Amino acid sequence: AKSEGRDTYRFFNAEMSYEATEQLNIRVGLRKALELNQFQLFYQPQLDINSGRLVGAEALIRWFHPELGMVSPAHFIPVAEASGLIVAIGDWVLQEACREVARWRDAGMPNPVVAVNLSALQFARGNIEQAVSNAVADAGILPQMLELELTESIMIRNTERVLATVKRLKQKGFVFTIDDFGTGYSSLQYLKRFEVDKLKIDQSFVRDIIDDEDDAAIVRAIVQIAKGLGLKTIAEGVETTEIMALLQQYQCDEVQGYYLARPMSASQFMTYLQQHC
Ligand code: C2E
Ligand code: CA
Ligand code: CA
Ligand code: CA
Repeated sequence: AKSEGRDTYRFFNAEMSYEATEQLNIRVGLRKALELNQFQLFYQPQLDINSGRLVGAEALIRWFHPELGMVSPAHFIPVAEASGLIVAIGDWVLQEACREVARWRDAGMPNPVVAVNLSALQFARGNIEQAVSNAVADAGILPQMLELELTESIMIRNTERVLATVKRLKQKGFVFTIDDFGTGYSSLQYLKRFEVDKLKIDQSFVRDIIDDEDDAAIVRAIVQIAKGLGLKTIAEGVETTEIMALLQQYQCDEVQGYYLARPMSASQFMTYLQQHC
């Protein structure tokens, strides 16, 4: 019975090890990724739905690992959050995104804006105000050119502290968006307390608005709430021309998604910008 127990243990261990090894590879690799310059920001265009004009782009991080290849942020961001590395990575993202939006301005793009995703830990542990202020100062851009995307996980933790930080940054001219709007537990409560500028309607609602009446009703309602509060709306995950048309009918302000363009490298975005401005 004893040896059987051991074998059972071994078997269990082998089953577990694939995921565990991958996690470990990611954790060890992440620690070196910054100094080895393995991160890159990709940019996904955001368009004004009525004029069709390019208004900016969301910066989305990519990790090019020599052996694992391109690792999705969905895989490594949670690991970076668990280890605390997200604070240093987040600082790098802010610096890099601000330098890039300065290039778009210099290339002649009118009123360019770059949207950056923030993590809860950047508020809890990092000095987010300092990081954001340094990034715009170093890049020589206006705060209006940097849009900060907040998720519920940020607003839920240390709500009072985050509220105060957002308020101060807003006074300086930074722009705030609630990301993945509608997916959280108490989005409406946060909407009341956080003075944000824009709601980003989560792609899980946008995806099926053609076939799913409930999703269509939710998107329409979010746009109406936003209008009532004087906020803008952007729909993410727009994949077809039919969805575009419906969003326009619902009076959504901006769109982002594969229908317009996939996230692309900085140099590809520069070409895109020259073709769309
Ligand atoms: P998110 O902020 O909700 O970003 C939108 C995700 O949807 C991106 O995935 C984007 O590539 C994808 N997407 C855009 N358009 C479409 C579409 O039309 N259809 C579909 N199916 N997907 C679309 P990505 O780039 O893999 O990023 C995943 C998540 O990782 C992001 O979700 C965000 O939460 C996180 N993330 C990415 N970059 C950063 C970063 O710099 N910092 C932090 N803290 N998180 C990041
Ligand atoms: Ca986002
Ligand atoms: Ca989102
Ligand atoms: Ca989302």
